[in-house]
Order: sequence, then structure tokens, then C-alpha cells
Amino acid sequence: MLRLLALVAATTSWTPPRPIRTATILRAAPPHPSLGSLTLVGAGPGDPELLTIAALRAIADSEALVICDRLVSPEIRELVRGELRVAGKMPGCAEKAQQQIYEWCREGLVDGRRVVRLKIGDPFVFGRGGEEVLELRERLGVEARVVPGVSSCLAAPLAAGVPVTHRGSAHQTLVSTGYGRGNSSSPELPPYDPMRTVVLLMAVGRLRSIAEDCVTSQNFPPDCPALVVEQAATPRQRTVLGDLSDIADLAALHAIKAPATVVFGDAVRALHQGVAHGLIDLPEPTGASPVIDVRHAGVARPRALDVAETLRLSTP
Ligand code: SAH
Repeated sequence: MLRLLALVAATTSWTPPRPIRTATILRAAPPHPSLGSLTLVGAGPGDPELLTIAALRAIADSEALVICDRLVSPEIRELVRGELRVAGKMPGCAEKAQQQIYEWCREGLVDGRRVVRLKIGDPFVFGRGGEEVLELRERLGVEARVVPGVSSCLAAPLAAGVPVTHRGSAHQTLVSTGYGRGNSSSPELPPYDPMRTVVLLMAVGRLRSIAEDCVTSQNFPPDCPALVVEQAATPRQRTVLGDLSDIADLAALHAIKAPATVVFGDAVRALHQGVAHGLIDLPEPTGASPVIDVRHAGVARPRALDVAETLRLSTP
């Protein structure tokens, strides 16, 4: 897509695109006239090629204050042209980091800047994006513009070669957090359905109890295919394939860590027939499969991506 745009820009006279239509939710209170603007932007799972054009435009704005956390991949952070502040969202200090993010947003807004709050995946999928909209609306009367992103709940399985729906294997996909109510050990998953794919985010730390609960309480067969993909769609992607009886051991053996996405269901095996349990090597790129293109796109292209040239950014 970006190559296509570059070609169009090089061969025709460039007309600035129409303003981006993104979600703007009605204001609770009019903002102070000198306050800056706030845009919540989805960064996708990690590969710069999976940014939307709206996201790329927002983060390549040299006047913007871009605020993200460590989960945003270094390849995407490299594309920031203005000021970048990275909050240390690590396990155990998430609340402190969140307060730091609000404070930075407030500072930027009070200084009249364009604040871009960059979040992994889609801002409204398990990203506290809605909470951030409410917080800044209530604190400052600022209404965020929201740019959707490619969510890891679909892109991570795809990058691991899993079609989350697949005729004959799955006609439903359920996306859940790995945390149960009140952060108890497991989420409340529905009973096993052989035609359903279950995608779990933030679940790798609780994989053992989740897999056990699925078998003991929700009637999943122990040989139900299971997969964990770590840092999907980045050059660091690792993928572990197994079933409910051994996936926790395999993930522990290979020290799989967050961010990782867990997938259960027959669709896991749809394109991985006959592959042995353990770390799987996706084939070398041939250009024939979007899965493979996605996996390898992050390796070589970011440096070659000339954002300003590609999009001919016009500073407002
Ligand atoms: N808003 C994000 C999800 C935020 S919750 C989205 O739409 O993707 C954070 C969780 O997302 C992580 O714990 C992990 O489960 C998942 N995740 C994010 N990026 C990922 C990646 N590159 N590979 C695998 N899982 C990822």
C-alpha cells in the first residue's frame, strides 16, 4: 500500500487527502481554547507495515508530542519525528506508568501541543483506551480523536499462520483477556465448542491455570490444538505449537513472555498439519503467503521507509 502511494506521489501531482474520519465522541464540556489536541492512535501489533495511514501521519508529525509505553515496538517508535516519551509500563508498575501518561498528556495539552497517545494494537481492545478518553474528558474537557489499529487479537494468530475462522474448523472466534474478574486466576470462558477459536490476550502468565480450567471445567479435550505467539509481526516473533495438555510446559520451556497471544481450537492446526509440538519455524519468505509477508515485513523495510517522502506530509 505504501509503495503504491509512493508511486502515485511520484507520478502525479499530490493532492492532500481528505481529513481522516475517525471516532470523535461528543464533548462533555468545552475545552479551554488554548488547549492542544489529543489523538489516541492504534499502532498495530508491531510491524510498521501494519500501521494505518492515519496512524503513520499522526506519529510522523514533527510538531507532535508522541506518548507511548514500552509495548510499542522499537520499529514503530523509530518512525516518530517529533518528541517521543515512553512510559515504563512493566508488570507491577502499570498504575504508576498510567498516571505518568496522563500527566504527560496534560502537560502537552496545556502547552497547546498536538498530543498523540500511541497504543499497541487497537486502542479500544483491552487497551484502556476508553478509560483514557474518559479521564482526559473529565480532567481537561478535551475530547480525543481515535484512530483504530490492527488488533493483535486477529493479527497475531494470522502472523502465526492461524486463520481464526476456517471452514470446517471454526465459524466463531472468541476474544478474551487472560485475567478473570477481579484479576482472579482465569477468565470465565464458555464451554468447549469444537467450531470456535479462542484467542486470549494478556494470558501467557496464567497459561497453565487457563489450560487446566479449560479441560477440567469447560470440557475442552486435552488434545485441543493450542498455540502461543510472542511478539507477533516483529522480527522477534516466536511461535509455540502444542495442545492444551502441553502448551504451558512448552511455553515455559521456551521462556515465552509478554506480549504474547494464546490461541486454542482446531483452526490452530488448519495450516499446520503434521507439524510437531514445540517451537515452529515459519517457512522462508516466498511472497506467496500473506502470513509469511507479515512475519518478515518488519525485518528490512522500516529503515527504507521515508515517511515524509511517502506521504508528502503537509504540516497544518
Ligand atoms: N490493544 C491491544 C491489546 C492490548 S492488551 C490490541 O488490540 O492488540 C496487551 C496484549 O496484547 C498483550 O499482553 C498480548 O496478549 C497482546 N499483544 C499485543 N501485541 C502483541 C504482539 N506483537 N504479539 C502477540 N501479542 C500481542
